[in-house]
Amino acid sequence: MNITRTLTNSPKQKPEGTFGFGKIFTDHMFIMDYDVENGWHDARIVPYGNISLSPASMVFHYGQEMFEGMKAYKTADGRILLFRPEKNIERMNNTNARMCIPYVDPNDALQAIEELVKVDSDWIPTQPGTSLYIRPFIIATDPFLGVHPSHTYKFIIILSPSGSYYAGGLAPVKICVEDEYVRAVKGGTGFAKVGGNYAASLIGQDNAEKKGYAQVLWLDGIEHKYIDEVGAMNVFFVIGDTVVTPKLEGNILPGVTRDSVVIYLKAKGYKVEERRISIDEVYEAGRSGELKEMFGTGTAAVISPVGLLDWHGKKLEINGGKIGKISQMLYDEITGIQFGKKKDEFEWTHEIKK
Ligand SMILES: *Cc1c(COP(=O)(O)O)cnc(C)c1O
Repeated sequence: MNITRTLTNSPKQKPEGTFGFGKIFTDHMFIMDYDVENGWHDARIVPYGNISLSPASMVFHYGQEMFEGMKAYKTADGRILLFRPEKNIERMNNTNARMCIPYVDPNDALQAIEELVKVDSDWIPTQPGTSLYIRPFIIATDPFLGVHPSHTYKFIIILSPSGSYYAGGLAPVKICVEDEYVRAVKGGTGFAKVGGNYAASLIGQDNAEKKGYAQVLWLDGIEHKYIDEVGAMNVFFVIGDTVVTPKLEGNILPGVTRDSVVIYLKAKGYKVEERRISIDEVYEAGRSGELKEMFGTGTAAVISPVGLLDWHGKKLEINGGKIGKISQMLYDEITGIQFGKKKDEFEWTHEIKK
């Protein structure tokens, strides 16, 4: 794929100190267009800036869109690494298929990510724990108010320097179990990375925050009994000597971090079960003392230990509200691989060659 380049004449000031997440964007972005006659075409890297769309663009009305999230890491010796980018690209096309968005050639998607990251490589922060967040997304752009798949799309990639999630060390979060609203149902879009899932989740998230909780734990949409996932993270429980995580059955997002944790633990001889796990089982294991740890997994936090659950007022403290051994070990090992500090025995990292 040929990607044309128009570089900015007015580079921005790069952030210093702590810069949080998702608020600052780099100097450039990638765009390509889709129409029925030409397929994906006109791939270009251009200065970061506003885009112009018809107010009738279908994405604004019916939410036909998808997104991905991954990171670029700078190693101590200055190399640039991606973490399993082929998994994100594969998931992107699974989401596309569900959303009637046209397939993107995986090689083209990877090339677009690599070239854009290279153009803005000076934006990859180097303080411990920091990285460059990569947000590819596709929006439906037909100016049309009827409900059917759009005939035109834009595939855009933007980049955002991302601060260390855990400036003060891995801190366990408090989580509220949602028992009124649901995030996904069988046959729905739970496995797809789409804005609509998040739009539907805002009310639960908002209620949880008002009660002082960081995130919501979603239960299945049919029985309100089995655990799906947390906000933007998959979840794991350490029960006795077994690590348990909900099975991929179409409800939950197949996280790259989730997959990496499962592979890592199995390779190291841990007992891992991917199966349905009910909220009753978790509370029962909490009462009997078998529940050792709970943690979320996702690109942003990597591992997020959970210190407390609240299920309609019933509070369950986990591991004394402190970070568990497996959570800490996984955080150290996976971030070690991502930042090129530990041996990449699973061949997960992908270097962007200068
Ligand atoms: C992106 C996402 C995750 C985590 O996936 P990773 O690939 O590990 O970043 C989990 N749940 C939801 C709902 C997500 O959107």
